[in-house]
Amino acid sequence: MKLAIIGTGYVGLVSGAGFANLGHDVVCLDIDDKKIERLKAGEPTIFEPGLTELLVRNMESKRLIFSTDMEDGIKRADIVFICVGTPAREDGNVDMSAVKEAAKTVGQHINGYKIIANKSTVPIGTTDLVKKIVKENSTGKFDFDVVSNPEFLREGAAVKDFENPDRIVIGTDSQRAKETMLSLYKPVSRTNRPIVVIGCKSAELVKYAANSMLAARISFMNQLTQLCEKTGADIKDIARGIGLDSRIGPRFLHAGAGYGGSCFPKDVKALVSMLKDYGCNAELFEAIDTINERQYFAILEKLESLLPAPMENSVISVWGLAFKPKTDDIRESPAIEIVKELLKKGAGVCAYDPVALDNAKKEINGAAFFNDRYEAINDCDALVVMTEWDEFRNADMKLVKKLLKHPVVIDGRNIYEPDVMKTMGFSYSGIGRAIL
Ligand code: NAD
Repeated sequence: MKLAIIGTGYVGLVSGAGFANLGHDVVCLDIDDKKIERLKAGEPTIFEPGLTELLVRNMESKRLIFSTDMEDGIKRADIVFICVGTPAREDGNVDMSAVKEAAKTVGQHINGYKIIANKSTVPIGTTDLVKKIVKENSTGKFDFDVVSNPEFLREGAAVKDFENPDRIVIGTDSQRAKETMLSLYKPVSRTNRPIVVIGCKSAELVKYAANSMLAARISFMNQLTQLCEKTGADIKDIARGIGLDSRIGPRFLHAGAGYGGSCFPKDVKALVSMLKDYGCNAELFEAIDTINERQYFAILEKLESLLPAPMENSVISVWGLAFKPKTDDIRESPAIEIVKELLKKGAGVCAYDPVALDNAKKEINGAAFFNDRYEAINDCDALVVMTEWDEFRNADMKLVKKLLKHPVVIDGRNIYEPDVMKTMGFSYSGIGRAIL
């Protein structure tokens, strides 16, 4: 099939490359001409394991091209995917301006029957909204269907997730669109991956429900951390003890500095707004968000309690700036919040991340950035670990102790063992574990 992807960010780029790899003819479109120029030159614009190989292979076979020419891209497509950003506005509502703009562009250039598939995470009712905008901006001569096709890939494992998703959700009430979408995803369903075909509104809500459920598990564990610290219980043991219950399962039970990224925070807030807009109660989802935001402060309090000098006279090393490992995405990263808060309090900050430094430099003023994890801790008063990269788990902790001016470690992701750290002579605090 011929596919056009509007919005070549994390979702659009991985989906475009993934569909091309399944044999489809794909054009990835974006309004950001610098991004498109880099991609045309074969330079990936995001860090994602396995993506570079996928891009090279499919660009060479000419199944994948990049363009800013919306008209040409839309005209030649059977299916147009909308993959633009839907960030949170100040009031928690979803900023739908990019989706509306994309729908308008499709309407202006529609030249025959097409499916417009929405992959962006959008509030209930957006399928109808996109339909209306496309209709208003087109000549009205051409038939089209709008379907909801929410995306569930995880940054850091996006290529794997595209090729091997837990499920594919398609929201549509059109038989024609359903058959085309099922045939598009046939190679994936052949590997026994379920395709859930439901109504558009349900499909739109499934995405918010999924992200909020995952966020809830993290906030659930984080709410228990204080009790663990006050009583001597250990949150990792609690996670193991409950995770072995097959009704609960072991994943997403990690207490720590809280969730971040471009999805969980905004999607929980959007669900709260949606519930309130429809006059429904939202207290559970509000609490998920509140607990998460409180976690940032828990890190700072722990740091202040272990630092030998006041914050304004201290230099803090921060390991990890991305919101999670294996990505360069720093959107809503707890690490970025912590760095900004430390700088505001007058501390010096030495920061390191294996792949997110370039993005972080654009967002943070006043920190020193290092390309080496050990250089970033040299002569610092404390180390705060904010992202659970393997290279932090496997770090030479004897060297860490030698390089730090004071052996203070705040482990925002519980990657070290308190008793080992104590034996090595660190002043150490994880989250929800014994403070030694
Ligand atoms: P992103 O910010 O990385 O990419 C969005 C892209 O859209 C940008 O390159 C931007 O220039 C482009 N764009 C904006 N307006 C445009 C327009 N009118 N025409 C063409 N291009 C336009 O965003 P993302 O992380 O890929 O997320 C996209 C959507 O997918 C969001 O709704 C998000 O919630 C959802 N989602 C994201 C993830 C994820 O892990 N990032 C996972 C699942 C779903």
